[in-house]
Amino acid sequence: MSPTSRAEIVVDLAAIRHNVRLLRELAGVPVIAVVKADGYGHGMVEVARAARRAGAEWLGAATLDEALALRASGDRGPLLCWLTVPGEQYDDAVAQQVDLTAYSVAELDEIAAAAARVGTPARVQLKVDTGLNRGGAPRSEWEPFLARARVGETEGSWRVTGLWSHLACSDEPDHPANAAQERAFDEAVALTAAAGLSPEIRHLANSAATVLRPSARYDAVRCGIAIYGQDPAPGHTDLDLVPAMTARTRLAMVKRIDAGDSVSYGHTWTADRPTTIGVVPVGYGDGVPRHASGVAEVAVGGKRRPIRGRVCMDQLVVDLDGEEPPAGTEVVLFGEPTGANPTAQDWAEACGTINYEIVTRIGGRMTRRYVDTQPEEEPG
Ligand SMILES: *Cc1c(COP(=O)(O)O)cnc(C)c1O
Repeated sequence: MSPTSRAEIVVDLAAIRHNVRLLRELAGVPVIAVVKADGYGHGMVEVARAARRAGAEWLGAATLDEALALRASGDRGPLLCWLTVPGEQYDDAVAQQVDLTAYSVAELDEIAAAAARVGTPARVQLKVDTGLNRGGAPRSEWEPFLARARVGETEGSWRVTGLWSHLACSDEPDHPANAAQERAFDEAVALTAAAGLSPEIRHLANSAATVLRPSARYDAVRCGIAIYGQDPAPGHTDLDLVPAMTARTRLAMVKRIDAGDSVSYGHTWTADRPTTIGVVPVGYGDGVPRHASGVAEVAVGGKRRPIRGRVCMDQLVVDLDGEEPPAGTEVVLFGEPTGANPTAQDWAEACGTINYEIVTRIGGRMTRRYVDTQPEEEPG
């Protein structure tokens, strides 16, 4: 790490490309590389570029702002976004040919008005709720929703480019909701055709379903967590994904404490023997979960060390078990599973959450740096 850096996130773009290629090959259909939430904490624009280079036909973002930032970065390829609120400003996204997702007739009406102002047909994908009971048109609205979509297409307000839905339990391959949602989606596909619409892509699968349910792949797959090299369904998959993110810092200080000495706020941990402790200069102000207090581990100079006591805003303390590595020694919070490094999955299990949250939240004041461990020729 850079000698002046207190704490940094290192992202290996070669890992992103490797993971995208692996998923593209496995799926056998176009990949929508999902780069929302700043690329799950990895950096949206850089990840998007790496994903495109590795053959991702589409990009996926949640908000309009994310989609427009991708366009501003120079990306001109197929790009889908799916999270808007009433009164949203659609004009720029219509002008820049971002595929907008509509959940309702009201949203279609707003998009029609934007397309009329801009003077260009929008690109619209229709989202149906097949049982997640989150976003998307509920079953009772499908017929009027599809009918409105058809009218708008005939009037030139838009081209309906996609039909899609999202699964509730894709990381549990045997959960009956998966098959039920596929059946509901098949019904939506049939009704869409019956309404006179012919979307280019129909898609249902996120990363876990891409890997675990070939029947959910349809015409494209929306892969997020797996492109970052995190297992989308721990315990169920056996893929050669490479984690792209390493979060690292350096020991700020090392000191001896006696048996009976307690550590950090609230004195929640007390040494039962004389030992040494290391002060690690990151905390929840850097996105380190406070739930890691007393449960997660880090690698200090290549050795696994437990966090002792509470994670503070800017610091945490690790038990060095009597050893005295010099201040400045590298500390890996999580990263590629080499040597003693914990993984984001290890942190997720320790903290009672999922790898998605670990990689997406880490950051705060940490700097981000990109490396490319397998440089490739720039495409001509
Ligand atoms: C975030 C998101 C995805 C990606 O899900 P992963 O489980 O990370 O692959 C796909 N589709 C939608 C609608 C999403 O919001």
